[in-house]
Amino acid sequence: MPVSIAIIGSGPAGFYTADALVKSCESCRIDIIERLPTPFGLIRGGVAPDHQTTKRITQKFEKTALLDEVSYYGNVEIGRDVTLQELRNLYDAVVLAVGAPNDRKLTIPGADKLGVHGSAAFVGWYNGHPDFQDLKPNLDVGAAAVIGNGNVAMDVARVLLRSAQGMAKSDLPDYARQAIHHAPINDVYMFGRRGPVEAKFTNVELREMGNLNETSPVVRAEQLPDSVEAAGANLSDRNRRLAERNLKVLREYSERGSKSKPKRVHFEFYAAPVEILGGNRVEGLRLERTRVVSGRAEGTGEFFEIDCGLVVAAIGYRSEPMDGAPYDEKRAIIPNDDGRVDDGLYAVGWIKRGPSGVISSNRSDGVVVAKFIHDDFDASFESSKTGRSGFEELLHSRGIRSVSYADWKKIDAMELKNATDPSPRQKFITVEDMLEALDGACNSKESA
Ligand code: NAP
Repeated sequence: MPVSIAIIGSGPAGFYTADALVKSCESCRIDIIERLPTPFGLIRGGVAPDHQTTKRITQKFEKTALLDEVSYYGNVEIGRDVTLQELRNLYDAVVLAVGAPNDRKLTIPGADKLGVHGSAAFVGWYNGHPDFQDLKPNLDVGAAAVIGNGNVAMDVARVLLRSAQGMAKSDLPDYARQAIHHAPINDVYMFGRRGPVEAKFTNVELREMGNLNETSPVVRAEQLPDSVEAAGANLSDRNRRLAERNLKVLREYSERGSKSKPKRVHFEFYAAPVEILGGNRVEGLRLERTRVVSGRAEGTGEFFEIDCGLVVAAIGYRSEPMDGAPYDEKRAIIPNDDGRVDDGLYAVGWIKRGPSGVISSNRSDGVVVAKFIHDDFDASFESSKTGRSGFEELLHSRGIRSVSYADWKKIDAMELKNATDPSPRQKFITVEDMLEALDGACNSKESA
């Protein structure tokens, strides 16, 4: 009997692991189990809708999904449909690739006011993720604040400011396209609690902000240190080079005029949010000026306020505990030894190491765990578990409708067909719509 492996989660971490397993394991059967009918996790629901080139990695993942030894089961939720313990009873190895789907919470006073959103929810909303299409943020505001200096903050600010023409080739769902392009937002403030040298956004994203049709970047020269050394930052060679490149771009922005374009993105450093202002709904943000001491932001006791009707906290993501698996509440990960969690249980991606790195950072997680599985189930191993057949029997006995990769390809084809040129795709935004569309596709084939 081949070694049976279940991977929970079909984002980059799950797919890179499947790919590494296929390459390292002579006799493996790999089942990728996903909560939504649609695969690819953050590639579909997190990567910005105007970053279509980044989404092309799904073509590589598709090659893995179509291999004989790999099967995909979408629309199956662990905890709701099947427990983790049941999967561990059915499979020799279970790999958790469930990511970090929740927002790190902003805990300042007023953070519960209407108009304050976490970036996981906000990004999910403009990406047509079924969990967030009811968010309906009020964008009828003149100014928005984005808290955080990471790439997600950069994505949110850019999506709010990019012109309709600049977004035309994106796969923004219609409701988000309408809301964003009718919004009177002319100013977006990006607040970093530390300085430009400590900012986590990458240079490509920073430069992209300087090339928007309708938006000027606004940077105050007095906030820019003369060099990375002058900022006193203790960085690795690589990070120093990256920070130097960012400083150079920010310096160039600080010398540009902001009058020629109707909208502005304000890069404000050394500014830690302390209170969301307003009644029920956000009307402004109060911040404290900071200085960076030994790499940490320290308040200076000087405060200032800005008016804004929308706040998006892009301060990082958090994983959630899973019944049947240990959980480190403080680090918000599953405690593991480089991916090993327990006998036959492994973790990869953000649930293993926290929400950091780029898509390809998940590749090495997959390789490490594939090696563990290769070593743990060597040639002499005789599997006594039912694996795929037992799993399918369980789904059938519970009346659970799973979505195969072939089904996903039908959904994919309909989304591509429903798009209005030059947008590449019109996403289905509820699970019900996806399943109904699949039923329609099957019926029309039967009656043809
Ligand atoms: P991130 O890179 O960790 O950035 C989080 C930001 O929030 C940091 O600037 C952090 O400041 C700030 N922050 C945290 N807590 C705060 C608080 N209480 N008050 C004020 N600011 C606070 O996280 P992310 O932007 O969510 O991105 C997650 C990962 O996805 C990153 O590795 C990112 O590079 C990746 N990603 C990549 C792309 C891309 O390649 N285009 C796009 C999106 C996401 P401190 O630094 O001071 O802690």
